[in-house]
Amino acid sequence: MTALLRTESLTAGYGAAPVLHEVDLDVNTGSITAVLGANGAGKTTLLRTLSGLLPATHGRVLLDGKDLRGVRVEEMVRRGVAHVPEGRGVVTELTVDENLRLGGLWRKDRADVRKAMTEVYELFEPLARRRKFPGHQLSGGERQLLALGRALVGRPRLLLLDEPSLGLAPKITAQIMTLLGTLRDRSGLTVLLVEQNVRGALAIADEAVVLALGRVVTRGTDIDDEMRHAYLGF
Ligand code: ATP
Repeated sequence: MTALLRTESLTAGYGAAPVLHEVDLDVNTGSITAVLGANGAGKTTLLRTLSGLLPATHGRVLLDGKDLRGVRVEEMVRRGVAHVPEGRGVVTELTVDENLRLGGLWRKDRADVRKAMTEVYELFEPLARRRKFPGHQLSGGERQLLALGRALVGRPRLLLLDEPSLGLAPKITAQIMTLLGTLRDRSGLTVLLVEQNVRGALAIADEAVVLALGRVVTRGTDIDDEMRHAYLGF
């Protein structure tokens, strides 16, 4: 398998003191990697650095072997990287339909944008019922679905998902996990999944990394009780 995404000694933060320290990752094409760790471990910071929202202060990020330093967020989207931040990313003044369309605005294949939107409505029935509703009238969970749906309309190759299950009923969370597995298997989608629902994430993940204080402390989906207590806080 080839690595779609690789980080080498990736270090980043918000001020003088780094939050992420020398993170090395290899994410294979068509795989799901769960990013685990206690609150404040640096999971969100990792996704923000990968999508170009936050510059690396040291080390690098490679997509298809190409260094992403200096690549703007819009260009990242064109290269197939979609970032769905936790509980945000919906334009509340726009309707569900308009938000979804935004996800494909940059794409030339308009017919496929419409097809992708139809697929999203089929997948996420609560959105289909609220097509004409403005974002501010949606519940937190519906906004979460909309943010994910909008990313899917862009037909990404790499999906960076930050706590997609936040505020969602267990049934919908399970549907999202199944969907991610299906997209991986059918379309070769690559996913980096930050998830508080550790069991749900590990059930579909091919790989897992556990972060503690911004460092990778363990890798692999076999997380034993000792690691769970030490790094995941439950
Ligand atoms: P959570 O599960 O709580 O979202 P996390 O693992 O995603 O945690 P991050 O949100 O990446 O962790 O936060 C890592 C560290 O960076 C924390 O100490 C946090 O206080 C700090 N941090 C996060 N965002 C900012 C910011 N915008 N400015 C300054 N410090 C920040």
